[in-house]
Amino acid sequence: MTPLAAKVIWLVGVVGWFIIRYPHDRRARRTPKLRRADRGREIALMAVSATGLGVLPFIYVVGDAPHFANYPFRPWQAWLGAAVFAASLWLFHRTHKDLGRNWSVTLEVRDRHTLVTNGVYSRVRHPMYSAFWLWALAQALLLPNWIAGPAGLIGFGTLFFLRIGREEALMTETFGDEYRRYMARTARILPGIY
Ligand code: SAH
Repeated sequence: MTPLAAKVIWLVGVVGWFIIRYPHDRRARRTPKLRRADRGREIALMAVSATGLGVLPFIYVVGDAPHFANYPFRPWQAWLGAAVFAASLWLFHRTHKDLGRNWSVTLEVRDRHTLVTNGVYSRVRHPMYSAFWLWALAQALLLPNWIAGPAGLIGFGTLFFLRIGREEALMTETFGDEYRRYMARTARILPGIY
């Protein structure tokens, strides 16, 4: 493993993520929505997340900037990053399959929204966010730069912590006790832990 290979793996991972998401994005645009959370806030949170998971690492990967924040490359760290990215993409794929037409990029409740509690949703209630955390972790392992590496953890972390309570409130308003029971038997993102 070389520093260049690690950068290429990061790029391939991001492209893979777009390929997984694309058909769901197209369908989501056509599915009617019943309720949606504050749109301005949602867009701001997504911009912060995209800066950390996309813009900053991209600048590092293509422009090697900011150079002062570079630290020595360790092949084992990059191999671990590649494995974590692969796990993240698998989980992304599974969550999209299980959520189906209930998925949306911002917080929304759709027409004929159903509560998904099966597949990767059976033990954690936010497995798609688990997949984003894995992506952010993979980025930190693959890119030996103190800014571009951890930027994803900070960017996605901001979105996660400012959104999760509202998402669970929206789900509880929509599904009532069914969601409360589901919350009681599942973890947020890490089975048995959190
Ligand atoms: N937080 C989930 C879903 C992310 S997509 C995860 O990490 O896997 C965001 C949309 O999914 C929200 O607009 C919400 O309406 C919907 N959603 C969240 N949990 C759901 C569930 N268990 N079943 C159906 N829809 C869900």
